[in-house]
Amino acid sequence: MTQTVYRELLEVMKSRGGPYAGLDIPEFFVLVEELFDPEEAEINNVLPRKPASVEEIVAKTGRSPEEVSKILERMASRGLCGVSKTTAGLLYRGLPFMPGIFEFMFIGGGETEREMTIARLIHTYKKAYSEDRGIEKIAYPVTRVIPVARTIKAGNTIHTYDQVMTYIDKYDFIGVGACYCRQAAKLRGEELHGMPVGVCMWFGEIAENLTERLGGRRVTREEAREIMSRCEEAGLIHMSRNTTDEIDFMCNCDRWHCEVVGKVLKQPRPGLVFNSGFEPSFDAERCVACETCIERCPPEALTMGEANVPVVNTDRCFGCGVCATGCPEGAIAMENKPGFPIPPRTVKELANALKGSS
Ligand code: SF4
Ligand code: SF4
Repeated sequence: MTQTVYRELLEVMKSRGGPYAGLDIPEFFVLVEELFDPEEAEINNVLPRKPASVEEIVAKTGRSPEEVSKILERMASRGLCGVSKTTAGLLYRGLPFMPGIFEFMFIGGGETEREMTIARLIHTYKKAYSEDRGIEKIAYPVTRVIPVARTIKAGNTIHTYDQVMTYIDKYDFIGVGACYCRQAAKLRGEELHGMPVGVCMWFGEIAENLTERLGGRRVTREEAREIMSRCEEAGLIHMSRNTTDEIDFMCNCDRWHCEVVGKVLKQPRPGLVFNSGFEPSFDAERCVACETCIERCPPEALTMGEANVPVVNTDRCFGCGVCATGCPEGAIAMENKPGFPIPPRTVKELANALKGSS
């Protein structure tokens, strides 16, 4: 019989929202009983979403500060809660499954039996959740594609927020960890199509936490740039939050395993809800019709045109630039997409835009 603490945990995970929030199905309980022991579940259930001190958390339990601290530290080191360092000491916060616990589980790139079990249980829960809820309609983009800056044609407008290197230059602390989607797929024994795994990047405070507690590693700016170039060569899509100023992570996504790309591709016009604000143009003089760009395009937005030059379906195109980086003839350049809106500046503005669209 499911213990009361896990029934309470269901309500808590429902209230934290996000994709795959708590759902009253058997797969939820199998998963959370593996993720949290009963003590951790009890503490999770009193953790607020906003960072709180140990004293504030203790006040909601019948436990001593030492006990609560010990449990919180255990949870933080396993990605079950968020933690921030402040001048007033450590603050802890409750996390949703996504973005949060699911990603944090696999950052370290471990391949233990337990990690394999968790990868399988998360997959089973997500599948059951999607079957129960159906296809989620994306009314407003939470995430944004960042184009490969070097593929943008001279003379086009390119904002600093359109350039991955802006974020690498801005932060002193850069951390790299395993891509949750590909690491989980690897643990389930799935094909990775030659895509690199340890290439998801975090910036600033969150990067410190990731490297200190979750098995990520700190990298220099030079190494971060080299990782981004490697991702571009492999054909991965740079992706981050749909804001211009508050960017603290950079994912490098593929078409086979990425959670976001998978959801976007289920939308009737994927290119409208996941885009960089750029689109490819083709130089017919240079193109030799080799079809490399068609094979590389993650959303299959390209087909060969009658003139033996690829044509783009803008309803599907993400504006990622993966086609351009792979063209052996240099026949593709990215251009501004007419009328593309400026993304929200901050997380608060993004939240307002999301509310306005629902
Ligand atoms: S990769 Fe370049 S040369 Fe090959 S079909 Fe595409 S545009 Fe033409
Ligand atoms: S055509 Fe495909 S590869 Fe090229 S920018 Fe669009 S989505 Fe990316």
